[in-house]
Amino acid sequence: MTDHLVDAHAPRDLHAFIAGLPKAELHVHHVGSASPRIVAELAARHPDSRVPTDPEALADYFTFTDFAHFIDVYLSVVDLIRTPEDVRLLTYEVARDLARQQVRYAELTITPFSSTRRGIDARAFMEAIEDARKEAEAEFGTVLRWCFDIPGEAGLESAEETARLATDDRLRPEGLVSFGLGGPEIGVPRPQFKPYFDRAIAAGLHSVPHAGETTGPQTIWDALTELRAERIGHGTSAAQDPKLLAHLAEHRIPLEVCPTSNIATRAVRTIEEHPLARFVEAGVLVTVNSDDPPMFGTDLDNEYAVAARLLGLDERGLADLAKNAVSASFLDEAGKARIAAEIDTYTAGWLAP
Ligand SMILES: [Zn+2]
Repeated sequence: MTDHLVDAHAPRDLHAFIAGLPKAELHVHHVGSASPRIVAELAARHPDSRVPTDPEALADYFTFTDFAHFIDVYLSVVDLIRTPEDVRLLTYEVARDLARQQVRYAELTITPFSSTRRGIDARAFMEAIEDARKEAEAEFGTVLRWCFDIPGEAGLESAEETARLATDDRLRPEGLVSFGLGGPEIGVPRPQFKPYFDRAIAAGLHSVPHAGETTGPQTIWDALTELRAERIGHGTSAAQDPKLLAHLAEHRIPLEVCPTSNIATRAVRTIEEHPLARFVEAGVLVTVNSDDPPMFGTDLDNEYAVAARLLGLDERGLADLAKNAVSASFLDEAGKARIAAEIDTYTAGWLAP
């Protein structure tokens, strides 16, 4: 399914430039990053699962007929994550896939509630992701950080548990930098999560809720005023509200834009109608991300190719886009400077006569 969704419009050498460009990924989900290769490995460990282990059958399995089908497949992959070793394997292998795309730094959105609710011990879960993080950094050079997100559809019980896991000093993993909110927006108002975000922020975490992906700009305002969002996941409907765009630009609140995901979930009808260019025109700091890449038939490289087309970017423009993600990240200043310098060196080398 990947092939026919990959953006074929960008010139070939631009694709090669993107493939080698050092990047940061700020909006990508842990389970949603399980590629057919990883899913096959997990399914082989749990033969009672209905997920096929053969790569060809898996490719069919990953071809979604509609959004409900996507959720169904997503949940069947969640069902494969049953032990701390499954968690470690998934995390480590996701890092391998990121490293292959020259991702130097990624903030991975993890929903620990999905695992603890299924009986995985919280401490063992934290150890598994931390072991994978350290191993991946040593082996691939990719730095991972975590965003723990509330699965909005699971209600306040999940918010309470996620806040507990994120703020309890005996559990909270070293790599945790932020607190998020995912799941459906319709019927799940953002303000009810304010107390949980207040706790996370008081514990030193950054606020990065999804907002305005499938609902209007008011959800984004709520995320800003109630949840004190420092970045917005998606923020697609900000395009409908010039005052909001001006606010985002003035306060330098970045958007984590995931173009292919927006088409796959029908949040935006066609890629030509995607508001990415409108955000840039309004002076908003945009970053480009992949969300649930294998499930949407994309990867971060492809999202950069899509952005190049929507924004008319050349190599320098793409390098600036990559630097946006570095600057919008929660990496320390020295780490940011190091990746930005690497992007500059790579770009200069590419463009040198
Ligand atoms: Zn997301």
